[in-house]
Amino acid sequence: MRRTKIVATIGPASESPLVLDALIAAGMDVARLNSSHSGPDELTKRLDAVRSAAQRAGRSVAVMLDLAGPKLRLGEVAPGTFLQPDAEFSLVPGECSGDSTRACLNYAGLADDIAPGDRLLLDDGALELVVTGTGHGVVRTRVVTGGALLSRKGVNAPGVELGVSSITGYDREVLAWALDAGVDLIAQSFVRRAADVEHLRALIGEGAPPIVTKVETSAAARDIDAIVAVSDVVMVARGDLGVETSPEEVPVLQRRIIELCRIAGVPVIVATQMLESMTSAPRPTRAEASDVANAIFDRVDAVMLSAETAVGSYPVESVETMARIAKRAEDSGQTAPPFAVPPGDGGDVTAAVSSAVCRLASDLELDAIVTATQSGATARAVARHRPSAPVVAATPDPAVARRLAVVWGVRPLVVPLADDTDLMLDSVLVAVRDAGLASSGDRVAITAGISSRVPGATDFILVRSVS
Ligand code: PEP
Repeated sequence: MRRTKIVATIGPASESPLVLDALIAAGMDVARLNSSHSGPDELTKRLDAVRSAAQRAGRSVAVMLDLAGPKLRLGEVAPGTFLQPDAEFSLVPGECSGDSTRACLNYAGLADDIAPGDRLLLDDGALELVVTGTGHGVVRTRVVTGGALLSRKGVNAPGVELGVSSITGYDREVLAWALDAGVDLIAQSFVRRAADVEHLRALIGEGAPPIVTKVETSAAARDIDAIVAVSDVVMVARGDLGVETSPEEVPVLQRRIIELCRIAGVPVIVATQMLESMTSAPRPTRAEASDVANAIFDRVDAVMLSAETAVGSYPVESVETMARIAKRAEDSGQTAPPFAVPPGDGGDVTAAVSSAVCRLASDLELDAIVTATQSGATARAVARHRPSAPVVAATPDPAVARRLAVVWGVRPLVVPLADDTDLMLDSVLVAVRDAGLASSGDRVAITAGISSRVPGATDFILVRSVS
């Protein structure tokens, strides 16, 4: 069974029931809906389509809503617009029809934040401008690298501290929809500091879906320790990260972020351009296959597809290819050794029991580790050790099961947890067997919170044979 999870972005190429069924069969664990390109109406249709497909497949598939965040974007630009090197070009706030002399921007404060000599990158860094002056809200620039200018392309100001709020008015509208619709994970874009994540958490409240912090700005890369400490999940969002820093910084930051997350026990996703050439070709480049495999060798929790599944010509083949590369890399025995997580750090009983159950599973060569979990915390704590035995998370809550879809190696199973301990153990093991996650005669370790029944307070391990 593959342990690394696959996140696939849903878009026009993948929203039909037929393709969604095939994506789930191919191994999609998390469906990502991107609010940068769709509003609540389209998001609702896609959410419903994913939920129906998951139900048809009998699989727990999570839905991750990706907030657009404070991304600077151009307004409309006349078709055929081309910026010549050395030409003068202005960015003006508001709405207008842009041309080769000026374009409108969705943020009015840029002229206050930026100074002559600062760089602006348009369209993922394809075009570069240098600021020559500001005044009356207008940013005047000279074109350094020219090219075709298209409507609504992104604008990055590397190293510039922007005054824009971390959660926009549009984000608030989408968040209200997401909480009402019951998405499973919320990804936050353009986080600059840990306080941005805390701001979102305060807004959505306790018990809300976990926050996936997208690390994609140079400011976030600088504040990464504090950001990991407050995040539920972290995504290495290499697209904007590569524009905000530089392509050669991306692999260095990726390794560092993965290591920090693994030490902290925070699930980590590597995203963007993993199989980019498969947007228009049925097979990946060898470099892409190596990129995916290297993330798996580093033992990330999940790898992500963006344009490949959202707008590409081979969405299903992309997921199949990613699943095959992941499985091959996992089976190669070349994955990094698990980090030595201090057992019971800080007197945390769940952490100590989770560490002990992995040791037990290895010493006794058990067939599975079964966690009976209310909140999913125990399953995450066990997965953190990357045990070779499969990890089953038995939980009564379908939403908790879906949230675990992003966690390395965890197979969620929705099953009622009886109050009586003996009954609970028996019924969970029967459910695990019936779901095909263990066979009769298999020896498994089962861990649960028995004495307190407080979610997350795991204090019990038992080794049993499956009947
Ligand atoms: C990225 O920039 O890598 C990313 C994942 O974000 P988005 O796809 O929203 O641009």
